[in-house]
Amino acid sequence: MSFRIPRGTVDLMSGEVEKWQYIEDKARELCRRYHFSEIRTPIFEQTELFQRGVGETTDVVSKEMYTFLDRGGRSLTLRPEGTAGVVRSFVEKKVYGEPQPTKWYYIGQMYRYERPQAGRQRQFHQFGIEAFGATDPALDAELIDLGWQFYHSVGIRGVKVALNSVGCSTCRPRHREKLVAYLTPHKEALCKDCQTRFDQNPMRILDCKNEGCQQVTHDAPRMVDYLCEECEPHFEAVKENLDLLDVEWFLDTRLVRGLDYYTQTAFEYILEGQGGHAGSLGGGGRYNGLVQEVGGPEMPGVGFGLGLERVMLALDSQEVKLPIAHGVDCYIVSLGDNAKKRSVLLLKELRQSGSTAERDYLDRKMKGQLKAADRAQARFVAILGENELEKNQIVVKEMATGEQTTIQLDKLATYIREISGKDHS
Ligand SMILES: [Zn+2]
Ligand SMILES: [Zn+2]
Repeated sequence: MSFRIPRGTVDLMSGEVEKWQYIEDKARELCRRYHFSEIRTPIFEQTELFQRGVGETTDVVSKEMYTFLDRGGRSLTLRPEGTAGVVRSFVEKKVYGEPQPTKWYYIGQMYRYERPQAGRQRQFHQFGIEAFGATDPALDAELIDLGWQFYHSVGIRGVKVALNSVGCSTCRPRHREKLVAYLTPHKEALCKDCQTRFDQNPMRILDCKNEGCQQVTHDAPRMVDYLCEECEPHFEAVKENLDLLDVEWFLDTRLVRGLDYYTQTAFEYILEGQGGHAGSLGGGGRYNGLVQEVGGPEMPGVGFGLGLERVMLALDSQEVKLPIAHGVDCYIVSLGDNAKKRSVLLLKELRQSGSTAERDYLDRKMKGQLKAADRAQARFVAILGENELEKNQIVVKEMATGEQTTIQLDKLATYIREISGKDHS
């Protein structure tokens, strides 16, 4: 029997996993500066949480969830997105009772049963932000800016923010009425999915990628023209703040987002030169009704979820070279038993001083050890034979130049640390 990795999943290994660590570090660092703290929620939750918190009519809930019964007969679901679990925690732990706002971020795996394709896996990763307890449009803008900065910080160019307002429970019905009236004569021309949306959530027809549907909705009533006296100034202020922050944004009146819980601000990060939704890297919006939907008090929230697989694709397509250090700083080549014993401590000293250090574990001859050092992309090899050991010295050779120097044994760690510019001790 041979085992295979499940469809839609990948193993991240050396060479690739360092890139993931790099972009995750960038995300964490930005969150630190913007004063968001990390929250880690379980990767599975009660199925009902997603049905309520994401919305029964969404594709995510109706078609894509990994749902199973545990041994106790409870229906659980692998999280298809990050917000519902975070909101559940916010409500369950009564964090809403503390001084607001609450600013959280998460990085982790999500699960959706989809047809795997480039940038879309069944187990995928998201970096997300949630901020609760404030309606201030400056917070929407700050968060949009944070995501935008994230793409910049990893080296992706040409990211713009598509922005829309999807209104609230006051103004949305007015728009819905006009939209339904407009669409009714064209109902037959809509795709099968949109025929269903027509009854459940007609606004999402605006978001359909089907060409026929896009033609039908070309001149359809726009939500932004129906915003109420609360949503209208809120949207204006979001735009104003984005301009203050120098974020490149554009109005996209078709932008609805797939999930049902958004109110007012909706946004997506679009990669220039890749039209439509193929270029969407991730997005988010405001969800003022969600905390209540999940059993908490009335409490506003705003957030985003960014697909990290998309980030990797964009980095590849733009041929961004991440500044990731490969290889070891120093590889110790030892000859003879005494030298080998001494190298054990040398290795420890190198590592304690902050250098990456390695040695041979297979009793290779000199030539074999040098080859291994080469494979480990060693910047320096330190060669310790019986002769050197007697004189309490060691030969250090820079692999790239072949330059060689002899130093005191007990100076090796300091020497390597200084020359490779590392000081973590
Ligand atoms: Zn409104
Ligand atoms: Zn459609």
